[in-house]
Amino acid sequence: QFASLPPVASDEVFDLIGAYLADAYPERVNLGAGVYRTADGKPWPLASVEQAEKLQQAANDPGRHEYLPIAGDQEFLKLARDLVFASGASGWADQKTDELRIASVQTVSGTGANHVGALFLAHHSKAKHVWISDPTWINHHTIWELAGVERRLYPYYKASDCSFDFDGMIKALDEEAERNDIVLLHACAHNPTGIDPSKEQWKAIAEVCQRKGLFPFFDSAYQGFASGDPAEDAWCIQYFFEQKPSIEMCVAQSFSKNFGLYGQRAGAFHLVTSTPSAEIRDGVVAGLSHIIRGEFSMAPRFGSSIVKTILQSEALTTQWMDDLQVMSGRIKTMRESLYNELIKLNTPGTWTHIVNQIGMFSYTGLTVPQIKYLREKYHIYMLVSGRISISGLTPKNVEYVAIAINDAVQA
Ligand code: PMP
Repeated sequence: QFASLPPVASDEVFDLIGAYLADAYPERVNLGAGVYRTADGKPWPLASVEQAEKLQQAANDPGRHEYLPIAGDQEFLKLARDLVFASGASGWADQKTDELRIASVQTVSGTGANHVGALFLAHHSKAKHVWISDPTWINHHTIWELAGVERRLYPYYKASDCSFDFDGMIKALDEEAERNDIVLLHACAHNPTGIDPSKEQWKAIAEVCQRKGLFPFFDSAYQGFASGDPAEDAWCIQYFFEQKPSIEMCVAQSFSKNFGLYGQRAGAFHLVTSTPSAEIRDGVVAGLSHIIRGEFSMAPRFGSSIVKTILQSEALTTQWMDDLQVMSGRIKTMRESLYNELIKLNTPGTWTHIVNQIGMFSYTGLTVPQIKYLREKYHIYMLVSGRISISGLTPKNVEYVAIAINDAVQA
């Protein structure tokens, strides 16, 4: 029965990692994977995470391998909500009423949050389409295709000068999106372009969503990892949340990058209703729990217990904020180093976008033949879109990468 299945494209990022690992060339460079690496190119368990792990080992809780409830660990969800909706200096406007608007469940990391959210909306919202940025994280397409919601693209990136196509985005949402359509938005550190709207632009996006009755779906995969400040990276979500009349929206929250818990799959999904009502909120949690029960019964507990241990403790939260500075600081330094090396070599073209972009990724503007050349001659691995993961750069390889790019653009 399975001899003639429709072909499925393999995952470019995971294919690239495989090809990189199989390459014995000593100076090979992996700029494909979206994971943080130290200046020595090694994975980094965060200091705050290591301390939380030690505390847990010392506590030796016999219940540490028990099942979580279907909707997840309520204390973890409360802390996750505080982080995404109230991490700014002012916190909650009115915590009791505000929290009545938010239905939260624990998910299998950010991917699971996107997926559970997409399925819930496919079943229960009136949306005809989901509007996705062009380009976007490739998995958004898979997730919404599997949920069976028709995808539409809104312009996001202007290749001519590697900038944000704000006018194109607003025009598409204003003129083509229909009432109740879903608009998928990257809360910060847009993947793959590294280009985010300014605060003024976010306000205009909120205005069009409110005026046209569109449903914003925030994907928050880099809170704190991008700027080093969790409140700054959730600014747009908090702005949308505060609008009157209220905007119905949702947030898929990942703890993979900001806590370095990639394989532990810690995440949450929050659906925000327009009216503070325990009845409506509990109905949404029940609907989400129904999907969770049928798919994976409940989220895994180790990663979320680490996040909970850190966010419950003032000292560990301070340490985590320092860890965020370490990661975001190294990324910023490597952006500057790559830019400076390219300028030093008089590399043809403009490269300011490398320092202006934010987060894990940079859209370099390199072409497919140039990317092929870099891989064949220099063993430098990156996506065919020209996206590079800045965390693959180190003080030891950045000059080599710049020399290679300088050669590739003139080859
Ligand atoms: N959304 C975006 C935009 C991402 O870049 C990622 C990570 N690559 C995710 C969601 C989800 O990652 P995870 O499932 O590891 O939390």
